[in-house]
Amino acid sequence: MTQFRVGPFEPIAEGIYLAVAEPAGVNVGLVVGPEGALVIDTGSSPEQGAAIRAAAEAVAGVPVTAVVVTHWHYDHLFGLAGFTGVASFGHENLTAWLSRPEAHHDAAELGVDPTSLVAPNTTFALAKVIDAGGRRVEALHFGPAHTDGDVVVFVPDAGVVFVGDLLESADDPSFGPDCHLRDWPVALDGILGMTRAESVIIPGHGPAMDRMDAFDQRSRISALYGQVEFVINQGKLVDDAYEAAEWPFTEATVRTALPVAYAQFAAAGVTPKRQLPLV
Ligand SMILES: [Zn+2]
Repeated sequence: MTQFRVGPFEPIAEGIYLAVAEPAGVNVGLVVGPEGALVIDTGSSPEQGAAIRAAAEAVAGVPVTAVVVTHWHYDHLFGLAGFTGVASFGHENLTAWLSRPEAHHDAAELGVDPTSLVAPNTTFALAKVIDAGGRRVEALHFGPAHTDGDVVVFVPDAGVVFVGDLLESADDPSFGPDCHLRDWPVALDGILGMTRAESVIIPGHGPAMDRMDAFDQRSRISALYGQVEFVINQGKLVDDAYEAAEWPFTEATVRTALPVAYAQFAAAGVTPKRQLPLV
């Protein structure tokens, strides 16, 4: 049985708090306005979402009046059903994922009833201003990257930005089959463009990052893409790819990412060309 726990909300800026929801170690944000509060990401089950909502209201001293989901992965989305009656926001590509086999698989693994899961009641394509109880928050989509429905949440009066799994500091970024490797650095360029040296960047998992951390991770994701392109051009098949180049992430991360990347290159018509040995 999965153990769902939510750590305490700790202050990170004026009226902004951060809690960690286990077992996924996912960051949950809380932005408190004069008359209501906004929660960013919801945990891994409806019950965990309800626990997050209660903990958030205890810290905020005002009701939770809005919630944003940064992307469709279970540890960010499945708790949304615990926020009944609250205005909820997410990217328009997110909703379709709830009916996909991957969502049902994740729900079964967690012991969560898939029919209890809900999508945000307001979706958007590019940008949305969200009222956090009288405090202005902006949600932005910079194109496909970690998923095709990633949302970045910006609190302008505090210089804090919640980026979901577009960036990670607890571990390497997660390169699942639904990521878009070529486009990912472009989305991170959007984050680099909207932040300043003093900005606080909250990744999906792990401690706060700054702009240079984001720049470094953007470079390494771009390098991963470039190295895959290099080994494909060398004629290396996916099983031989790891040994054929230097890589910007751990071996486990790269070995997970390689089949995903090869499939994406193949979909674009780029496959290893076999060469006859020279004699
Ligand atoms: Zn994710």
